[in-house]
Amino acid sequence: MKILLDTSSFRHNTLENNYEGTYRIAGLQANIDTQEHIQWEDYLSLIHTQRHIHKIKRSCQNSKILAEVQLTPESYNAACRAVGLSILASQQNDFAIVRPPWHHAFRELASWFCFFNNIAIAAQKLVNEWKKVAIIDIDGHHGDGTQRIFFETDQVYFTSIHQVGVFPWTGYQYETWRWKGVWYTKNFPLEKWASDKDFLYAFDEALSHIKDFNPDIVGVSVGFDGYYKDRALGMDFSLELYREVWKRFSQNFENIFAVLEGGYHEDIKECIDMFLDGINS
Ligand SMILES: [Zn+2]
Repeated sequence: MKILLDTSSFRHNTLENNYEGTYRIAGLQANIDTQEHIQWEDYLSLIHTQRHIHKIKRSCQNSKILAEVQLTPESYNAACRAVGLSILASQQNDFAIVRPPWHHAFRELASWFCFFNNIAIAAQKLVNEWKKVAIIDIDGHHGDGTQRIFFETDQVYFTSIHQVGVFPWTGYQYETWRWKGVWYTKNFPLEKWASDKDFLYAFDEALSHIKDFNPDIVGVSVGFDGYYKDRALGMDFSLELYREVWKRFSQNFENIFAVLEGGYHEDIKECIDMFLDGINS
């Protein structure tokens, strides 16, 4: 697994608010240097309506504020590139480090820094190629957009481990869907101050459900806002947790790709390094 990072991610939302900003990927080096986004723009409609796509594009062109972000024309390029890198990651078992994030984006709604749902687009493309896809969201927030997009379908399994009782105020255990004895939507809400042990307990159960589903490929929404230094959430995960998480992923599944979600602190690079370290440990 290698990192895919594009220069456009450094040019979106450069004003820096208290949460989402370019500081999150500081210290990481872009390794893909192209501005071409037209080919990726075509994939947006795999999930999103034309009305939504045009709204985001117009908002970027007119530098509007949307989903708590000051958009610029560069933002649309970054969003399309983020979709492209997520698709590439899904084809190569890589880790797309992208901004803007995406798991709060619905088919026709942008929300909390998210405009297009990258992992949903990558997953739908795989489904269209007759692949069975599981998505596990380990961002500290519930992946409400991704859950809604794939709710009540047997094509994509979705599971999320997150802090409960905070934005987006969803992700309870009763939000679930099971068909013929197999889970297709499953939430693992954790309390504030949840520890590595609490996370791994839920994580192991989530992995066993994914194995029951028996996917061809697993997509991981990776957010680092469960980390103890995070400003948005109150969980208590250590750096070492991320090594353990990827170690268990690679012990259980052959085809895995990952896409960066949230994480609002200065140690994102360290978290990513630790995450990748888990592959070989
Ligand atoms: Zn988050």
